[in-house]
This record gives sequence, C-alpha cells and structure tokens, in this order.
Amino acid sequence: MTHVVILGAGLGGVLMAYEMKAKLGPSNKVTVVNLGSTYSFVPSNPWVAVGWRERDDITVDLGPIFEKRGVELRPEGARRVHPEENRIELNDGRSIAYDYLIVATGPELAFDEIEGLGPDAHTQSVCHIDHAEKAKLAVDQLIKTGGPAIVGAVQGASCFGPAYEFAFILETALRRAKVRDRVPMTFVTPEPYIGHLGLDGVGDTKGLLESALRERHIKWITNARLTRVEAGKAIVDEVDDAGTIRRAHELPFTFSMFLPAFRGVAAVRGVEGLANPRGFVIVDKHQRNPKYPNIFGIGVAVAIPPVGKTPLAVGVPKTGFMIESMVTAAAENVAALVAGREPTAVATWNAVCLADLGDKGIAFVAQPQIPPRNVNWSSSGRWVHAAKIGFEKYFLRKIRQGKSETFYEKLALDALGIRKLKEIHQELAG
Ligand SMILES: Cc1cc2nc3c(=O)[nH]c(=O)nc-3n(C[C@H](O)[C@H](O)[C@H](O)COP(=O)(O)OP(=O)(O)OC[C@H]3O[C@@H](n4cnc5c(N)ncnc54)[C@H](O)[C@@H]3O)c2cc1C
Repeated sequence: MTHVVILGAGLGGVLMAYEMKAKLGPSNKVTVVNLGSTYSFVPSNPWVAVGWRERDDITVDLGPIFEKRGVELRPEGARRVHPEENRIELNDGRSIAYDYLIVATGPELAFDEIEGLGPDAHTQSVCHIDHAEKAKLAVDQLIKTGGPAIVGAVQGASCFGPAYEFAFILETALRRAKVRDRVPMTFVTPEPYIGHLGLDGVGDTKGLLESALRERHIKWITNARLTRVEAGKAIVDEVDDAGTIRRAHELPFTFSMFLPAFRGVAAVRGVEGLANPRGFVIVDKHQRNPKYPNIFGIGVAVAIPPVGKTPLAVGVPKTGFMIESMVTAAAENVAALVAGREPTAVATWNAVCLADLGDKGIAFVAQPQIPPRNVNWSSSGRWVHAAKIGFEKYFLRKIRQGKSETFYEKLALDALGIRKLKEIHQELAG
C-alpha cells in the first residue's frame, strides 16, 4: 500500500485529494494534513468584506466528505517537513510518514515585512475569511463616517486581481449605501502600469482597468512602494523606471486594504533543496521537486519566477485554473510512479481569470504566461459578474460532493455560452 499525503486543504489540496483518491483506489491511502477541518472559498472573501456573503455561504466542513471518499483528514497542521526521513512533524508533536508528499499549503502572508501592515496593525486584508470578516466591520464604519479609502497591493505581491476586485466591489457597496460622494478612493500598486497584473498585461487589461477606474473616479498610483503605515496614514514612495524615488506621498485614510507579499509556509521554508529562499517549493515541469523526487508542489506554494523586470518587485499570480492544471499533472504523475512508470504529465499553467468589478467584471486568458502569447485575450461586461457567481456555486458544489472532476472556471464559462473562451479552450485542448 502506498501512502500519499497532501499538505493543505485549500483550493489545490482538496481537488488534489479527490483526484488522487480516484486515481489510486481503495488499495492505497490518501491523507490530507490541514490547519483545521474546514475548506473556505478564498475568491469570495472580497464579497464577505462588504457583507455580500457570510462565512457559512463559502465554507465547507471537510470531515464527513473526506470520510465518505475514504480520505483521512488530519486537522493538526504541519510544523515541519523532514524530507530526508519522509516524515511530517505535526503541530501537536506527532508525526506522519509518507511515500509521496504533495505540498499545497498556499501562501504565508508577509504582513510583518512592512511596518504597520495587516489586520493586526493598521490595514485590512481579504486574504483569509477571518480577515474579510474583520474588514467588514471597518467597511461598516467607513459607511457611517465617510473619509478617504485606499486599496491596493504592496511591492512583492503576486496577487493583483483581488486588489482590483476589492476596489471595485467596495466602490459598488459605497454607491449602493449612497455614501460614495463622501469617500475619495485611491488604488495604490507596485505594478509599472495599471493592468500589468504580474503578467505584463493580458490583452487590453491596461485599457480596461484604467477605464473602469476612471469611470468610477478611483485615482491611482503605480510604481508605488508602501514604506510604512501609521494609524490613518500610508507612507508611499512612487518610483521611476530606474527605481529612484520620484515622489513621496503621505496618504491619509479612514479605510485601507492592501494585498501583502506572499512567502512559503514555515513548515517548508528553509528546507534546503525543497524550497527557494522565499519558502516556495521548487518544482520541475512535472510539479516534482528535483532534490526530493517523492515530493510534489501545487498551487500558490510553488516557486514561479517573475515574467520580466519591473522597477518594483511584482510577482506572477497563481490563479485557480493554473492551480487546477498543476493538480491534474501532479495527480497523474504520482499515480504513474505508484504504478511503476515515469511521470510524463506537464501542467499548462495557463492564466484564466474572472475579476469581479461589483456589478460587471473583466475576464482574461493568457497562454503562455510570458508574452508574446498564443492566446492573449481580455474582455469585460456584466456577464463576468454573473460567471463569477456561477463559478463560486459550481466550485463549492464540487467540493461538497467530493467530486474529482475539476473543470474550474472553464465549465462555468462554457455553461454561460462564452463562445470565444469555448473556442479558445477547444483550441488549447486540440
Ligand atoms: C483574496 C483572494 C482572491 C482570489 N480570487 C481568485 C479568483 O477569483 N480566481 C482565481 O483563479 N484565483 C483567485 N485567487 C488566487 C488563488 O486561486 C487562491 O489563492 C487559492 O485559494 C490558492 O489555492 P492554494 O490551494 O494554493 O492555497 P489555499 O487555498 O490558500 O490553501 C492552502 C491551505 O493550506 C493550509 N495550510 C497552510 N499552512 C499549513 C500547514 N503548516 N499545515 C497544514 N496545512 C497548512 C491552509 O490552512 C489552507 O487550507 C485569489 C486569491 C486571494 C488571496
């Protein structure tokens, strides 16, 4: 019997558990080690922060579902991976041995890298449901008092879509509460231009997002380095193309939300050969770690180099569709190894994203990630908002049913008759 352990039960880890178990069957064992026993749909957090979703709407108790699927759940969380011993040390001091390990631990949020950043200091976050619930209280207060709002991402961040999304969602919520006229808004980002997204733009994301910001009277600062946050004040240096400070800003705020930089989790950070200096798992094209070939990495936990040089550090986003492609490749490769074959599956890592703008949205498809591309498409409209809701419902249903079928955004888009994407997907599949 082969024992496969999956570390992390987020978007990648849960899908991985379903796919892995379906491939390996009852004669092999699949265990998931997670921090807690609940799955939470991270993409809905911006909606939680404005009260459009409650915690119960977007969380799933994994215990009974995993039990039904024959997957063991260990909610203690991992303290350290010991790859030389094929062993994971759990937070309660006990250990689990594995034959194959798949690291799917997502990001550790590096709030501590900037003074005053984060929900324990002066800014809000939507990266975790607990943060989003806390941000909701701050949004309620903003609606009562009015005052300036700043939304954005910090240097080194690699997740820009949710920052834009939250700016537009907040703007919509303020408009609906009829207090938008009392809240001047600014979007602050290290990207060299609006719509770069860590991908050097996709289609016309620059034009689409600039236009959406202009339409909604949200000012912006690009090439922005957040140096420090004080109570009610963000200290921001705007740099030029050479990285030299062009203008120093002191931005007062009543409300602020910044996406932090990510790093790998402590359980793998510093494990020589497994993780890079930032703690992200080093993988080859088969999602496999070169030094420890029985360890694979998927999702935000893996190391991906930036697409090009920018004045400030701007990371590549790891979006759901890309993560799903990593899951499928890793599951196939582990199953091949268990069957005595060599791994051959390679993930496409295509970036497909639906960004909600509150009442409409922007969608893009980038393949490959680094331009010039074979597919470089973006579009906007009310259908994206509808598609995002459809995707949320579809995805949560899959998690609740414990299905290994993982069409992610593709199916939601196809179901809505988005022909251009369907053609693109058919093209990619062919
Ligand atoms: C606010 C936000 C919105 C997003 N919206 C979208 C979107 O609309 N579309 C899209 O495609 N992508 C989106 N993304 C990007 C990406 O799809 C998500 O971040 C996704 O949740 C990443 O999946 P993951 O499995 O890599 O990590 P996660 O979903 O973060 O899961 C990691 C899991 O590992 C567990 N874990 C961590 N440390 C340990 C440990 N030591 N031991 C055991 N378990 C551990 C955590 O508890 C968690 O369950 C968004 C990201 C953010 C932050």
